[in-house]
Amino acid sequence: MSASSLARMLISVAALALTTTALAGPLRVGVAKAKLTPDKPGQWIAGYGENRPAEGVHDDVWTRAMAIGDGETTIVIVANDLVGLFYPDTREIAGSVPGVPADNVIITCTHVHSGPDVLGLWGPNRMTRGVDEAYLAMVKRRIAATIGEALANTQPAKLRFARAEAPPKTGYNCRERELVDPEISVMQAVTADGKAVGTLVNYACHPEVLRTDSRLITSDWVHYLREEMEPTGTGDVLLVNGALGGMVTPEIDAPTFAEAERVGRALGKAALEGLKTTEEISEADIGFERATFDLAFDNPGLALLAQLGVIHRTPSAQNTVQTSVIAARIGPAQFASLPGEALPKVGLAVKGLMTAKYRFFFGLCDDELGYLLHAEALDNPLYKYEQSMSANPQAVPLLMEQVKAAVEATE
Ligand SMILES: [Zn+2]
Repeated sequence: MSASSLARMLISVAALALTTTALAGPLRVGVAKAKLTPDKPGQWIAGYGENRPAEGVHDDVWTRAMAIGDGETTIVIVANDLVGLFYPDTREIAGSVPGVPADNVIITCTHVHSGPDVLGLWGPNRMTRGVDEAYLAMVKRRIAATIGEALANTQPAKLRFARAEAPPKTGYNCRERELVDPEISVMQAVTADGKAVGTLVNYACHPEVLRTDSRLITSDWVHYLREEMEPTGTGDVLLVNGALGGMVTPEIDAPTFAEAERVGRALGKAALEGLKTTEEISEADIGFERATFDLAFDNPGLALLAQLGVIHRTPSAQNTVQTSVIAARIGPAQFASLPGEALPKVGLAVKGLMTAKYRFFFGLCDDELGYLLHAEALDNPLYKYEQSMSANPQAVPLLMEQVKAAVEATE
C-alpha cells in the first residue's frame, strides 16, 4: 500500500470516528447553593397539620443547583428544602434565568415537613392561605440566582456514578412494608484537579422525622446526610427525593433531632460506601427531553381550596392544569421524573422504563400534584389519605405514557 493510500485510509477512519462520536463533548459542571432560611421566622410550617408557626431555626433550608453541559446541551438540576413548588412557580423561576432554556431547568423539592409553607395548605386553618408572599418571592429570586451561579461556575469536570442500598431502619413504607425502592443513586462531579465539587444523592423518603409538635425550621434528616458526606470531600450535596409517596417515611424510635441525625448519617454513610465503586466519564452526549401537557384536575377538595385562593393552582375552564415530566441520559445514567409524590410502585415502574446501569427517579419534580397512585391503590382503603391528597388520583396512566415517550426520545 502506498503512503498516500494509507494516509487516505487513515483520514477516512478518522472521519468515521468523528461521525460516530461527534455529538459527545467534554463535560462541564458547576454547582452553587444559597440558604432559603427566612430572615425572620414566623411563617407557617408546611407538611403536617395547619397552624404551626415557626418559632426558630434549628438548621438552614437550602436551594442547591448542579449545571451539567456537554458543549451543546446544558441542563440544571435543582434541589430545594421545601415541601413542594407548583408548576407555575417552577416555570417562572426557570424562565427568569438567562443562559439556559427554561425547559432544561429541573426543579425538585425534598418535601421537607419542617420548612415554611410555599404551597398554601398549612396556614392558621384549612381555609386560610399559609404562604408568606414576601418569603415565596425571596425563595423564587434566590433559586433563580443560584441556578445562574451554577451556570457561571461550570468548568471541565468528570462525572462519577454509583449505587448503594439504604441500610435497615432508614426509610420504610408504613402502608405496605414490602413496597419500597431502597436504591440510592449517586452522581458526583469531579474537576480536572480531582476535587469533587458536588454530589447528587437520589433516594426516596419523606423528610419528616420532626413531627407536628415541632416549631423549628430544619431540613430534617437531609441536613444530617449532608453533614455526614460533605466533610469527606464530596463538595456540596444535593438530595433529590424519589418515590416517597404512600407512604415512605423514616423508621424512628421518636420524632427527635437525634433520630433525624441517625437516619441522615446512615444514608450518607451508605452513599459514601457506594462511591467507593464508581464509573467515571469525562465526555458525554447529553440527551434531554421535557414533555409538557394538560392533566384533568380531579379533586373537589383541592379545587375548592384553589377557588378560595388557599392554593394558587387554578384549573383552566376545561378543568385542567398544565404540568410536565423530564427524561435525560448522561453516559451510563438515565433520569426520569414525575410531578408529584409517586407511590413506590409507580417510581419503580418508571425506573423499569430505563435500561441504563444507573437510574435516577426524581419525585416532586417541577410540580406538586400530590400523591400519584398505582391502580391497586385506587380503591384500597389503606390509601384513603393519598386518594384525598391527589390532584388527580387517576393520573398515573397518562403520566406513564408521557414519561415513557420522553425516556425513549433520550435513549
Ligand atoms: Zn407527602
